[in-house]
Parts: sequence; structure tokens; C-alpha cells
Amino acid sequence: MILRNAKVLINYTLQRADIRIHDGKIIEISENIERNDGEEVVDLSGKIITPGFVNTHTHASMSLLRGYAEDLPFNDWLFKKILPAEEKITPEGAYYGALLSMMEMATHGIVAFCDMYFHEDMVAKAVADFGMKALLTRGLVDSNGDDNGRLDENIALYKKWHGYEDRIFVGLGPHAPYTCSKTYLSRIIDLAKSNDMVVTMHFFENLWEYEKYTPKEIIELGFDKVHFIPVHCTQLKPEDIELLNGSYPSINTVSNMKLGNGIPPVEDMLNNDLPITIGTDGPASNNSQNVLFDLRVSILLQKRNDPKNFVLNKAFDSITKNGYRALNIPGGEIVVGNPADFAIFDEEHIQLQPLQNFLENLLHAYTDKVYATMVNGKFVYIDGKFPTVNIKEVLSKFTTFSKRVTGIEN
Ligand SMILES: [Zn+2]
Repeated sequence: MILRNAKVLINYTLQRADIRIHDGKIIEISENIERNDGEEVVDLSGKIITPGFVNTHTHASMSLLRGYAEDLPFNDWLFKKILPAEEKITPEGAYYGALLSMMEMATHGIVAFCDMYFHEDMVAKAVADFGMKALLTRGLVDSNGDDNGRLDENIALYKKWHGYEDRIFVGLGPHAPYTCSKTYLSRIIDLAKSNDMVVTMHFFENLWEYEKYTPKEIIELGFDKVHFIPVHCTQLKPEDIELLNGSYPSINTVSNMKLGNGIPPVEDMLNNDLPITIGTDGPASNNSQNVLFDLRVSILLQKRNDPKNFVLNKAFDSITKNGYRALNIPGGEIVVGNPADFAIFDEEHIQLQPLQNFLENLLHAYTDKVYATMVNGKFVYIDGKFPTVNIKEVLSKFTTFSKRVTGIEN
């Protein structure tokens, strides 16, 4: 396939280039590519191609609970509303919840995400059907040494799905230091080491988490020896930031603000050269899954006292290059050899003008949907349509399951 006549974002600037794709990968980038016999040509005149975006933390199936628990402090939100409702989520409900979330993410140029939840086998099926990339983890919790078979479920998920079509990957998702024992966390670390699995965990989102363990105690269990995505890190003290060296923090600014959990220490992390990434968190706590919006809020918050903070290129890296590094998969830049994962924009979009400041305008002004999103050389969203799913059917099933879970009938 050849993507022809577009402007392409390479090294943070727009250039006129054609892109040849073979087996889902970029194999040639040059100003004019001649078509070979049998090759499909997609004319993208008037369009801009950028690397696709990565959402490094969500709970996709929680779209079923979007808007269900509002204006509540974190503990009431989680323990009184969310956990009881989650009991009612069936595997089929999780499938349609995940599909709806992927539809939302695809309209915002997201090509890959990291998920932590239950019924992940059905989330994997949804990812397989929809065409997106994902690093999936079964949320792991234990009490009194018993995890109700959750870790076994995660291993079964790994055996069944890891590496599927170069799109689905399986990691380990201990829920949080406050819901896991140290023995259990050590077991998870051992498993991650022996299978080379990515580990992701909610990490010091709330101040009260210090009552159980310190960040140092947790990291010293071996989180510094595995590929680790600590999520939130909102309450980390400046002296604790260097504990995260070697990890890929997922910043969830919007969720943190909405649940009253504070502001993540992005500038301290950048000063420590941490490759920060952006996560939206689940749709029940954000409530949207648009990393461009979340990145913009994160940038503004870091700039509130000093506009030199969180500069343009570093901000863009957080949703592209660093996102891929976090998920431990290749991509994030438009170069030969990388997967053909793209967000595609209309160059006449008003908020992108003037076009010579494309990246500035994309990060600081753009609020709309993208024109198209491509994953491994295939469109998952283009011009308002989803080639792999029937919108009406998904919406109808999704609504049925959402009503069942929330108990709201009309
Ligand atoms: Zn979360």
C-alpha cells in the first residue's frame, strides 16, 4: 500500500512525503513513490500524517460506568459506587465496554493502550476484533495470601494472547500497594522476570497509601529490576522520584484532578529524565479517553508558574515515542522499519492554522476528532466510520449492558 500526497510529521516538522507500507510496516518514505503492480494507493492529498498516540493507562470496559459516580471523594467513588457496580459486569458486557472505548480512542488518533481490569480475555477478543494494539493486564489483588486465582488467569491470558498479530501483548497488573501483600508483589515480580513481562501498577495516587508502605519499600521488592509502568505517582515526594529511574511513569492528570487526588510531579520527573507517558485512566474517572486533551491539561498545569515547563517536543514524545517504550513495543516515530501506526488530520482544520506551527497548534489548540487512525497498516477509523465494527450494533449492546450494571433503566 502507498499513502500518497500527504504532509508527514518527521522530527517534529511537516514534510511532503509518500509512505510505502508492507506487512503492516513502513518500508519506504520518499517524496514520490512509484506504484508497483497490484499495490493499493490511498490518496491523502490535504491530509497530515503523524505517529499514532498511546494511552498508557485505562480500564477500557469501564465505559459501562461512565457518568455513574460523580462529585465524590476517591474512597466513596471507589468503594461505595464503582466496586459494587463492577460485580455486575459480565464477560460480554466487558467486551462491548472495551469496544466502545476503542471506538472513542480511535477517533482521537490513539493506536495503542495499556489496560488493567477483569474479564481481560473478552477485552483481548475486542482488541482482536477491532484492530487496535494493547498491552493487557488482569488486575491483581490478594487478601490473606489468597488472590482467588487472579494470577493464574493472568498467566492463561498471556499464553493465549501474547504476541497475537503483533498487536496484543500481556503484562502483569498488580492493582496497587494498598491492595497487594508484599509476598504477592514479590511473586509477581519473579513471574515478570522469568517471562520478560511488563508490570504496571497504580502507584501512590493517594496520600494515605503511605500509611501501609513507603514507595522505597515497594520499589525494593524488585520493581527497579523489571519493565515497570507506575501509574499516577501523584503523591510522590521530590526525594522519591529517583526511585522511579528506569521506569515509564503514566501521568493521569485529568483523573487525578477530577477525583481530588492532586497534581502529578511531572516537572520533577522530567528533571530526572524519566520518559513520562500519558494515561487517561478509566472512563468512570476521567471521563473521556482522549490523550491529546489530557496532555494539554497536563502541560497547562505544569506551566501555571513557569511557561518554560513541559516543552513542546517532550510533551509530544509523551504520547508517541515514550508510550511505545512503556508498552515495550516498536514505534512512535515515522521511520522505515516502524509499524504503520498513524493519526491522520485534515490540513484545512481551522484550529491547526497556521500550518507552519502544526505541532504547537495540535497540542495547544486542537480539540476535534482526527480524520483517520491506522494500526499496522489498516484503518480502524476513517472519515467518521469504523471499518471493523457495526456502530449501531455496538451501541445497542453497550447500552443494554450499561443499564444492567448501573441499574438505570431509562
Ligand atoms: Zn486506574
